Amino acid sequence: MDELIKLIKNTKNVIVFTGAGISKDSGIQTFRDTDGLWKDFDPNVYATYEGFMNNPEKVWRWYLYRYEKIKSANPNEGHYFVAKVEKYSQNFALITQNIDGLHTKAGSKNVIELHGNIHRVKCCACRNKFNTEDVNFSILPPLCECGGLLRPDVVWFGEALPYKELQLAFSYAGTAQLAIVIGTSCLVYPAAEVPFIVKRNGGAIIEINPEKTPLTDYADLHISKVDGNFYKEINNKLDL
Ligand SMILES: [Zn+2]
Repeated sequence: MDELIKLIKNTKNVIVFTGAGISKDSGIQTFRDTDGLWKDFDPNVYATYEGFMNNPEKVWRWYLYRYEKIKSANPNEGHYFVAKVEKYSQNFALITQNIDGLHTKAGSKNVIELHGNIHRVKCCACRNKFNTEDVNFSILPPLCECGGLLRPDVVWFGEALPYKELQLAFSYAGTAQLAIVIGTSCLVYPAAEVPFIVKRNGGAIIEINPEKTPLTDYADLHISKVDGNFYKEINNKLDL
């Protein structure tokens, strides 16, 4: 831990890269764990454009259930840790695969969301975006003013990541001297490319994850004992 604190305090260009694991302690289910969402729900049905078009009402019911859970969730010590790291580095980006918005709620500023955000919806026809909380869900599926279907503004399987966000993430990764990678299986590409870019450009990788991942062998440090106490302790030592 002391090594990690020293790096955080002394490195100018830092990125943090996060996945579903960081939100677990906030009560948000992950996808790929043994108790993850994809065990009970078929991603082909709930997380593809075809699945949505096939039964938009069913998919919306599932997203509204998750939206309500996420809306009432609070950030945990892990999210606050990431917000603290930002205060120490001169050039910082948080690149997240999460759609729950909890990093922003915890105070993170420069957040790049690679997989969208459940707090937004977009129109399948005119592409306009709206805040989820402003949408009338009394009739499912909800429709845009233009008559098009509204869908969650999240990236589904088989869909391209938002171009601007991905380019920005790769550009930060290219100059980062340190990447802290938290709670991601590093399996979903192209997002999973981010820490490897840092490594290829000579940056250091700190992986914080209870499980081993395809990244672990490339990490300079792998911290596997992760719980609320770990973050509480490290947050106490980061006084900014
Ligand atoms: Zn529209």
